[in-house]
Amino acid sequence: MEAACKKSGRNPDDVQLLLATKTVDVGKIKQALALGETFIGENKVQELKQKAPDLINIAEEIHFIGHLQSNKVKEVIKWATCIQSIDRFSVAKELEKRLSRIEKVIDVFIQVNTSQEDSKFGVAPEDALALIEKVGKLPHLNVTGLMTIGLFSAESDRVRACFQILKRIQQEAISSKVVGPGFKHLSMGMSGDLEIAIEEGATIIRVGTAIFGERIYPDSYYWDEGL
Ligand SMILES: *Cc1c(COP(=O)(O)O)cnc(C)c1O
Repeated sequence: MEAACKKSGRNPDDVQLLLATKTVDVGKIKQALALGETFIGENKVQELKQKAPDLINIAEEIHFIGHLQSNKVKEVIKWATCIQSIDRFSVAKELEKRLSRIEKVIDVFIQVNTSQEDSKFGVAPEDALALIEKVGKLPHLNVTGLMTIGLFSAESDRVRACFQILKRIQQEAISSKVVGPGFKHLSMGMSGDLEIAIEEGATIIRVGTAIFGERIYPDSYYWDEGL
């Protein structure tokens, strides 16, 4: 992270490492937190529910970074301090309904499918601005950023292009004034592409494998609908 910041003239303090902790047990997560990390991200509501009670007082922030179904919203808002994966208005509306009942406001990011692969979640880039604007009007959701999963490719230019799309949408949202001053996060970059993401302006990188080692489940288990 430091090397990538140096290369692009960025301050390392402006990039936050979020530990992507899917499949990782609480003991290991606590070890990583003890080393000074403070942000964790979970993908599955079931895992969030299991682990969050043990981590809520240790982690500064617990983000939800997986695909969110409307019927799981109630459980997620008990634990998550930020939901990075808003990709359609229906789920935002359900969140608004639940949050207004408990008078809680939560930070959310809009997830954009910058690689345009069918297997990835996220709103299409051309529809992102409209979704940002609509979600931004919900009083209990605070739209503070954008999230994407870059293309899995050895061709770094094509990966970089994904991150540039996210940055462009951020700039469009700011210049067309559909967002408030709190809209500042670009959550992009994982174990394989975090350097490129930092060069393109990431403020949060989400790293699992490079810290915790290989997972036994394929990522499709976490990313594909219906699994
Ligand atoms: C698993 C996951 C990550 C981390 O991926 P690694 O390649 O293990 O670093 C980041 N973001 C999301 C949404 C994930 O599901």
